[in-house]
Amino acid sequence: MANMGCWACANGVPSPVTATLTFSGQYTIDDILGCCWECHVFSCSGHAERDADSGKWLCFSSVAKALAASAGIDDGEHVETRYASTKDFEQRLPVLAESTITRRNRWRNDNDRLYSVVMRADLNKGYAPDVLADAVGVADSLTEPRDELYNLIPDMRSHPRVSLFGGNFETLLTKLHSNG
Ligand SMILES: [Zn+2]
Ligand SMILES: [Zn+2]
Repeated sequence: MANMGCWACANGVPSPVTATLTFSGQYTIDDILGCCWECHVFSCSGHAERDADSGKWLCFSSVAKALAASAGIDDGEHVETRYASTKDFEQRLPVLAESTITRRNRWRNDNDRLYSVVMRADLNKGYAPDVLADAVGVADSLTEPRDELYNLIPDMRSHPRVSLFGGNFETLLTKLHSNG
């Protein structure tokens, strides 16, 4: 029996890339393949991917934070990784990019709402809208189960039991998902 677990699996974080379920209704806990280069949590391949450019193992919540920081949302320098563009992100993390494309495009197409929330929250004066749409789309994939799983197992509807992002990005996500 393994004596280490994936931090995200342990905290009920949906996996954007894996739809395999066990009898307990949880996502399959894959073998731990690495320790996140940014935040040092242990992660399975359902919750992390190796950056094809730098070779660094990055958990998906750190990737979302890096995308937000790259878009211009101040993260207090908590993550060092940056993405120059959507294309850069998609080339370096192809598995995560492919599995989150619907959610990322949803925000790309609803850029007016993204813009108004960013401006009202006074989070940034000049942000990169495409990369911010990527950041929010990836974050959504970690807080809401995949669409095809949502109705399958009631337990899947629960949100993670922990704060995944923190800082201004968490504030932005809260405002985006609240009404008004
Ligand atoms: Zn995991
Ligand atoms: Zn991490």
